[in-house]
Amino acid sequence: MSSPVPHTVLNNGVPIPQLGFGVYQVPPDQTVEAVSTALAAGYRHIDTAAMYGNERQVGEAIARSGIDPSDIFVTSKLSNAHHAFDAALAAFDRTEARLGLGRVDLFLIHWPLAMLSDYLETWRALERVAGEGRARAIGVSNFQTEHLQRLLAGSEIVPAVNQIECHPYLTQEPLRSFGAEHGIVTEAWSPIAQGAVLGDPVVTGIAASRERTPAQVVLRWHLQLGNVVFPKSVTPERVRENFALFDFELSAPEMAAISALNRDERTGPDPDHFDMVPG
Ligand code: NDP
Repeated sequence: MSSPVPHTVLNNGVPIPQLGFGVYQVPPDQTVEAVSTALAAGYRHIDTAAMYGNERQVGEAIARSGIDPSDIFVTSKLSNAHHAFDAALAAFDRTEARLGLGRVDLFLIHWPLAMLSDYLETWRALERVAGEGRARAIGVSNFQTEHLQRLLAGSEIVPAVNQIECHPYLTQEPLRSFGAEHGIVTEAWSPIAQGAVLGDPVVTGIAASRERTPAQVVLRWHLQLGNVVFPKSVTPERVRENFALFDFELSAPEMAAISALNRDERTGPDPDHFDMVPG
């Protein structure tokens, strides 16, 4: 079965499916089932993180699926507890072992944590694992423009992606544009704002006229903007609903109407202040 999902080519030539499945807040004991449902629905891209506590279960679902693991793109992220060079290298080893795939497709610095550590030093560890071919691509998450500027000025490898909170109430226009100018793909986390945008009258109005669900309209908006997305759901019907995005297209006025909903409103933490380090 060929996949309907288009691929975005990262700045080092590695292709990433533009639609994936996120497993933040999927309890470890539900992760094998949720990822299995997603794989059966056609998803071939899973977004996890050391801090989600379910990397091992993501690997297990892939191993059980019968799908060639090299056909599934897997992202994980460095825990906030392991910034700095040696700690990050060791943390990568553990992520690689937990996933059990013999490689990590994309490895990210989860949060810049600029008030506690030096993400430039941490980035050197990611450059090392990329140079060794153990991570096919490396990137960052929750980096603001100033963080990216400092990283670009002080390191060898340009991040392949910046994974940031992004949805119709937080469109992140300046940060997305900065990424595009520098070959950094924007990945949108909480793409439906954990449901908060689904009741918006603009969204429900477009959904009604298109005979689509509000989630499908918002996810389609992301895809047409060029964002990579990985909505999370533990509800099988929603997992399938969120994948059925490739047989309709929003018009330019519909795209503009959704973008105009921006009110710079976060549902998650502000990266400039987020300093949570797991114990
Ligand atoms: P999402 O925007 O994907 O929303 C998930 C929530 O929406 C869940 O409560 C889910 O409910 C519900 N939902 C999903 N699909 C539908 C639908 N079709 N209709 C109605 N409700 C729906 O939020 P997330 O925060 O999970 O973000 C997605 C992914 O982004 C994460 O899983 C993670 O991979 C990544 N992420 C990264 C972060 C970072 O710091 N880098 C931070 C946060 C997320 P239910 O499960 O009950 O069906």
